[in-house]
Amino acid sequence: MRLLVVEDDADLNRQLTDSLVEAGYAVDTAFDGEEGHFLGDTEPYDAVVLDLGLPKIDGLSVLENWRRDGHKMPVLILTARDRWSDKVAGIDAGADDYVAKPFHMEEILARVRALVRRAAGHASNELTCGELRLDLRASRVTLNGSPIKLTSHEYRVLSYLMHHQGKVISRTELTEHLYEQDFDRDSNTVEVFVGRLRKKVGSDLIETVRGLGYRLGEPVDG
Ligand code: CA
Repeated sequence: MRLLVVEDDADLNRQLTDSLVEAGYAVDTAFDGEEGHFLGDTEPYDAVVLDLGLPKIDGLSVLENWRRDGHKMPVLILTARDRWSDKVAGIDAGADDYVAKPFHMEEILARVRALVRRAAGHASNELTCGELRLDLRASRVTLNGSPIKLTSHEYRVLSYLMHHQGKVISRTELTEHLYEQDFDRDSNTVEVFVGRLRKKVGSDLIETVRGLGYRLGEPVDG
């Protein structure tokens, strides 16, 4: 899963990014509204953390522009604690949730988890496929109850496939949700990660759909 953090406070931006990376997400960062708007307009994010008070273009305008242009990714806005009107304006502009500053990082992580899983149609923090279980709170994977050790990229691949299980995911889509923007991408590496994952979770769990991509679990419509 890939996120965008738009926050002009450099320290806060780094704290948010570090915590989200540690929780298993690929994270892009922007430090003003112009850069943030551009990234959200051109890259496919699974969720965005958007500060409202930003240089160049304010967060509310960034959000309104995204929604006007049809971008539907979940957006969590960061607001000032005493500005209830900001929360109302933000939600009316298309925000899915808000957190008031100052906040505890755990609250951001919980709300981002919820936005990402809801967008993929999941109500629970435990995603399962047969005997494979992904605990989103702990970023932990078990097979038949035994923990499986994954690298960060393997975890990202598996998390994306688990969120979208039953659906065919193309290599391009998987690649786009796997890496940060400035990462040196090579679509072949997705195949390498899938190969390693199969060795760890069982070779029949992730199916290769010829010419189309990968599917985890039984096929579903859509
Ligand atoms: Ca700010």
